[in-house]
Amino acid sequence: MILLPELPYAKDALAPVISANTLEFHYGKHHRAYVENLGKLIAGTDLADEDLKTIIKKAAGDPAKAGIFNNAAQVWNHSFYWKCLKAGGGGAPTGAVAAKIAAAWGSYEKFAEELKNAGVTQFGSGWAWLVLDGDQMKIVKTANADTPIAHGVKPLLTIDVWEHAYYLDYQNRRPDYLTAVISKLIDWDFVNANLS
Ligand code: MN
Repeated sequence: MILLPELPYAKDALAPVISANTLEFHYGKHHRAYVENLGKLIAGTDLADEDLKTIIKKAAGDPAKAGIFNNAAQVWNHSFYWKCLKAGGGGAPTGAVAAKIAAAWGSYEKFAEELKNAGVTQFGSGWAWLVLDGDQMKIVKTANADTPIAHGVKPLLTIDVWEHAYYLDYQNRRPDYLTAVISKLIDWDFVNANLS
């Protein structure tokens, strides 16, 4: 049974970058709905007792399981997204991630610009990601529910760019949301832990 994980901080912890109002809806309504929809879709099927990553991989690319894939991937993506954020985070990373970012992009500033650009240019709903592809760090974007889990690369960091992630706080200003999250909320300790 797939359960809604606890939010790793209070709903007002990320304010004013992301308001308690946004988290009430984003975590309390959207994330919860993906969990509940997935539960209904897999009840009584051969996926009912599988873990989330297995469900995502088994449903990926199967048109008959599109609903299962979309809800399972959204459950995983959101649980991961919450852990990528913390109050007082953001800015330049430290540790192994810092060295790998410098190697791949030359500077943190260039990396931050590319990550923001991935989020800004994702047409419609989706996600911007930092992933590890083999030994190579890459910035990628995915549409709707799609997730690196389904593509054999390791997610290190994500930013939700669905409108529900920012519209209450930033309306149509997705670039402002991305700038604020990247400079003030990214939990680099979590990203470093994902690298190891
Ligand atoms: Mn979302």
